[in-house]
Amino acid sequence: MQYRISKHAAALTPSLTLAIDAKAKAMKAEGQDVVGFGAGEPDFDTPQHIKDAAVAALAAGFTKYTPSSGIAELRQAIADKFKRDNGLTYKPSQIIVSCGGKHSCFNAVMATCQEGDEVIIPAPYWLSYPEMVKLAGATPVILPTTDASDFKVTPDQLRAAITPRTRLLIVNSPSNPTGSLYTPAELKELGDVCIERGVLILSDEIYEKLVYDGAEHVSMASFSPEHYAHTIVTHGFAKAYSMTGWRLGFMAAPEPIAKAVDAIQSHSTSNPTSFAQKGAVVALTGPQDHLKLWLAEYTKRRAYAFHRLSAMPGVTCVNAKGAFYLFPNIAQTGLKSTEFCARMLEEEKVAAVPGVAFGADDNVRISYATSMTNIEKGLDRMEQFVRRLVK
Ligand SMILES: *Cc1c(COP(=O)(O)O)cnc(C)c1O
Repeated sequence: MQYRISKHAAALTPSLTLAIDAKAKAMKAEGQDVVGFGAGEPDFDTPQHIKDAAVAALAAGFTKYTPSSGIAELRQAIADKFKRDNGLTYKPSQIIVSCGGKHSCFNAVMATCQEGDEVIIPAPYWLSYPEMVKLAGATPVILPTTDASDFKVTPDQLRAAITPRTRLLIVNSPSNPTGSLYTPAELKELGDVCIERGVLILSDEIYEKLVYDGAEHVSMASFSPEHYAHTIVTHGFAKAYSMTGWRLGFMAAPEPIAKAVDAIQSHSTSNPTSFAQKGAVVALTGPQDHLKLWLAEYTKRRAYAFHRLSAMPGVTCVNAKGAFYLFPNIAQTGLKSTEFCARMLEEEKVAAVPGVAFGADDNVRISYATSMTNIEKGLDRMEQFVRRLVK
């Protein structure tokens, strides 16, 4: 039997991170002492009061279908969050709750992009963006950036990349994998270029709460009514509430886009898990004290990891302003990212994600969403590894 795979599915790039991850897991299963810097999720548990709310909902029999776009109570709580944190006014009908921030991005791309469209994605990028664009039949247009520009695109660079086919710009600030954060002025200017040229913006603001050194996250939608009208904000509970496994994210968008996403979702996943939504309501309306503690811990780890990486021969590192990743440049070791990570795992039992997965083959992603003990041990080993490469 010949199975014909659809051209959109066949065009997808299998996750490059998977091979290394599988190897690291296999080594661990054999009892080897592997230090993992690959985590894309917080190492903290979901705060107890959020878990309690979901458990109570389950016990009370809140186990049936909900409205496809989420329960009214949660959509209202999300609208209140946007008002409170971002000064943005959304009606609950402009808010769609989905099965993760990733799902919200996917829905946004599906609702707005089609064959013949181009979508501008600054690199290094979150690896799912180009694949989502390809699934919609559109073409990803990658804008490269380097450490020298703090991994940020300039308005001129953006302007030069826009063609009559450009439909969407995807921005992710703070960024996975670089931890880079646009200043409000820089972000506004990118928005200005999009407005001037009639390009929509998908602003993935999932790391909003994870910013350091008193830096400020400002929503792309908040600069002016024009910015608001051109922006789809995607967000979720995974990072700020450590709810990755709950599969809950959300989007806020202009009404016609929200309506299209509602239709897509109603014919694909339908509603996100009922009792998980009850937990999410409490996440947004309950105490936020955990965040301060987590940020203090991330701040400590980031400072230590940045200091250690910067001191390694052959390694240069831009300090992150947000999220929980560092993205050191390893070009001077003479290795490209895949070989670097494969050999570091083999020789030193340290797992990191090759930058090539994010469109940057001279870098590796180090997640500091792991214990200080692990970070110390892993960086000791990484240092031994690069010392052997750079004599
Ligand atoms: C983690 C993450 C998301 C959302 O993850 P979900 O688990 O689907 O909520 C979205 N964008 C980026 C850049 C991320 O790192």
